[in-house]
Amino acid sequence: MPYTLPNLPYAFNALEPYIDEQTMKIHHGGHHAAYVKNLSTAVEKHPELASKPVEELLANIKSVPEEIRQAVINNGGGHLNHSMFWLMMTSPNSGGSGTLPSESEVAQAIKSTFGSFDTFRETFIKAASTRFGSGWAWLSLDNSGKLIVHSTANQDSPVLEGKKPILGLDVWEHAYYLKYQNRRPEYIDAWWHVVNWKQVNENFVKAQ
Ligand code: MN
Repeated sequence: MPYTLPNLPYAFNALEPYIDEQTMKIHHGGHHAAYVKNLSTAVEKHPELASKPVEELLANIKSVPEEIRQAVINNGGGHLNHSMFWLMMTSPNSGGSGTLPSESEVAQAIKSTFGSFDTFRETFIKAASTRFGSGWAWLSLDNSGKLIVHSTANQDSPVLEGKKPILGLDVWEHAYYLKYQNRRPEYIDAWWHVVNWKQVNENFVKAQ
């Protein structure tokens, strides 16, 4: 297959008790694996596409043949979003990555853009909790290089809109239903305990 499922950088139970082991196993080995397989199948008849990184396919989606365009949006987006998502999280016991160093580049940009970290957090929570149905909440750099909070539907990647994702939260039911059932707000609250701020800062610095 031209695209492959990346391993998790931690154990399936590493995000307990906030995100449970069974959810992680199904989410990674079931859902993410299916996006990878379906993306690979979609580009089978277009080998010139299969050699390109998925970001590149999505950033230039109009150059993807129409017959497979929606499949690439859905499954390429699913592959890219989840590949980033796993890295944006870390064990709450990993010693430090879960706290936002106030002197980090992204912390300073969050403060100057949103006024305070708490205001940013509230804005992000609102985007995550009001996304109707399946989708993602994001902190991204927009086309002008400004930090923004937004959400996308389904597996649409911010890259499709010319944005650079820095931090993302999966609010599909498959991400939380086993543990939280219909209580999306509880899942959103719990998730802040496992955000890998070191990685988020790296994403921000790289996106500049
Ligand atoms: Mn997901």
